Amino acid sequence: MNIHEYQAKDILRRAGVPVQPGEVAETAAAAEAIAARYGTAVVIKAQVHAGGRGKAGGVKLAKTPAEARAHAERILGMSIKGLVVQRVLVAQAAEIASESYVGIIVDRVSKRPVVMVSPAGGIDIEEVAATTPERIKRVAVDPRYGLQPFEAMQCGFFLYRDLHRARAAARILRQLYEAFMESGASLAEINPLVSTPANELVAVDAKISIDDNELDRHPDLAALRDETAEAPSETDARKANLTFIKLEGNVGCVVNGAGLAMATMDLVKYYGGEPANFLDIGGSSNPEKVINALRIITSDPQVRVILFNIFGGITRTDDVANGIVTAIRQHPLRVPLVIRLTGTNEHEAVRILASAGLSAMTDMDEAVRAAVAQVGAETAA
Ligand code: GDP
Ligand code: MN
Repeated sequence: MNIHEYQAKDILRRAGVPVQPGEVAETAAAAEAIAARYGTAVVIKAQVHAGGRGKAGGVKLAKTPAEARAHAERILGMSIKGLVVQRVLVAQAAEIASESYVGIIVDRVSKRPVVMVSPAGGIDIEEVAATTPERIKRVAVDPRYGLQPFEAMQCGFFLYRDLHRARAAARILRQLYEAFMESGASLAEINPLVSTPANELVAVDAKISIDDNELDRHPDLAALRDETAEAPSETDARKANLTFIKLEGNVGCVVNGAGLAMATMDLVKYYGGEPANFLDIGGSSNPEKVINALRIITSDPQVRVILFNIFGGITRTDDVANGIVTAIRQHPLRVPLVIRLTGTNEHEAVRILASAGLSAMTDMDEAVRAAVAQVGAETAA
């Protein structure tokens, strides 16, 4: 789960990280009022779950409250990477002497939290990694002991030559590490971590992603979810208890089990297709899930064919068939449907589908090829 910059900054502030004072506004008038109250230059920042807001025109400095209002007016309602800005953060502007990067991710290779720091801040860390990888220092932390003071100091000196700022950076890293572990984050980053002309460090931007599996343990963090900032199909799927990830292709996939879903996507790609989504209806036999799955997939205008791939074990294929038939009665499909099912109660499933004029295959390879051919045929037509 992603949270907004202002929410991430609240977490960092509580952990002791120096952050500029700031407040959220939903209207230009409110932004102006906050700026007037601060009586300083402010920065107006679009609150959307996307990086690169600065480049997109979503981060603007304002010297006066009137300017703050004008910027907020322009930024509110603006669309950044397909996300509409509904709120802005109005923060006291920091004076910037230099920008660096500090972040922590869960690293799958070392199976540890990895601290990453770079004096090349303010730009995407992916870009630094691609062009000047020697400007990134990585420290894999042993989670039994946490980020050690000497490790934090090594990072501090990688960023700054003077003891004062190296120490300040080390302190911030240890606070960031605490916040990261405490909130069950998969990523926590400050980009840029700014050094001011007075040699003080300030977190000017913050991003935290919380591992979805941690949310049950952290109701306070779960409450930070902003559904208006997420893809509607993903919100919808979460409410229906489906594991769903929207992808860029046009072959809609409904599968039971994450492993089968991966295998299905691999096969779709193998035959030259592109999956439109990852959707796992899980191991249950609930026709309601199938109905929800079809509703969510068909609401994506990019989907040109729907592929069901069901391996009946605990999942009863007749339940899935009933779900398909009910769903289609409620909302007739505007795209072709390819069904593969095999396993528990498959004869019953085939009978149910046949009575609704549908057919099913038992071979996965054949079904995937048929689905991809539908898209190919449409594209050619
Ligand atoms: P992002 O583009 O989404 O990563 O948004 P950031 O919060 O990182 O802002 C982008 C850039 O705007 C930063 O790298 C800074 O150069 C600049 N910026 C952001 N906040 C301030 C501020 O308080 N003062 C100054 N002078 N520049 C800022
Ligand atoms: Mn940034």
